[in-house]
Amino acid sequence: MLPAEVLEHAASEMMDWHGCGMSVMEMSHRGKEFVSIAEKAEKDLREIMNIPGNYKVLFLQGGATSQFAMVPMNLLRGKKSADYINTGQWSKKAIAEARRYCNVNVAATSEADNFMNVPPQSEWKHNPDAAYVHYTPNETIGGVEFHFIPETGSVPLVADMSSTILSRPIDVSKFGVIYAGAQKNIGPAGLTIVIIREDLIGEAVAGTPLMFSYKTHAENNSMYNTPPTYAWYIAGLVFEWIKNKGGLAGMAGINKRKAEKLYAFIDKSDMYRNPVDPACRSWMNVPFTLKNPDLDGRFLEQAKTAGLAALKGHRSVGGMRASIYNAMPEEGVDALIAFMQEFEKKNI
Ligand SMILES: *Cc1c(COP(=O)(O)O)cnc(C)c1O
Repeated sequence: MLPAEVLEHAASEMMDWHGCGMSVMEMSHRGKEFVSIAEKAEKDLREIMNIPGNYKVLFLQGGATSQFAMVPMNLLRGKKSADYINTGQWSKKAIAEARRYCNVNVAATSEADNFMNVPPQSEWKHNPDAAYVHYTPNETIGGVEFHFIPETGSVPLVADMSSTILSRPIDVSKFGVIYAGAQKNIGPAGLTIVIIREDLIGEAVAGTPLMFSYKTHAENNSMYNTPPTYAWYIAGLVFEWIKNKGGLAGMAGINKRKAEKLYAFIDKSDMYRNPVDPACRSWMNVPFTLKNPDLDGRFLEQAKTAGLAALKGHRSVGGMRASIYNAMPEEGVDALIAFMQEFEKKNI
């Protein structure tokens, strides 16, 4: 979802942005109008995430999936291996890509537990020569979230925050790189945000395409080539919306409440089940199964009629998944719970 206020705002200036006679989609990315939109978006993101001055914010394309390659290409800096934490489907994809560039040490994995938890940090087996430690703070498909930031000492910590960025305040200074595809919690698809500590920029492996080098984008304010201008603009409106909601502390309060009431309902019901260790449950993605999977189709159909869309679980795991990102209002979660309750009553 995108916040309704953001879509309405964008609609109101679709044909003519601030009296300039053009839609944002028609602007040159190097013209003063778009540059002002781009700069304001970065300023607001820096403000809401409290991003320190020694970090660059890049507005890229290619999705989080491209970052699976860009991270090793840029961060190995002469080293031969990197540590990865494997907590689910997105970790596995990041690992598979990194293996094309370096030796991957899987420092911890919850695969034996079917990815239903986060391995405790005391059990992680780091390689002292690792160039960086990569993890997925929120596994979107499994609904498993780290409710702590790993300690990696002087080894840069890299996080795929695609499905949890902006859901709560975080200490950016603990990270070497944070990256996120925009389409979960930032804005429209097509934009990818990278937040990177400056000292990690500039040592890409020989042969790295210029478009895959962080240095290229850092030196050109993400305008080495044409950036995804409209997605960048909408992201800026979302940052403004978050500011008006009390920033990330405000979002965190709402998100925690939304998640807790949905899990509480699932846990006490006889029909629904969430298998994730309660200490690692995601605030953003709540997978659940029905006791009788034969009812899945009926559940989805009736949910859709009730105005509750996109509840089908990921094709790799089945069941249901409620994605309750920032833009999902608390009333949306209340409506889902009311529907689930009614469905249970009728089908028990
Ligand atoms: C959605 C998602 C991705 C893939 O993002 P793309 O932008 O489609 O490349 C990667 N990691 C996580 C955690 C995701 O949720």
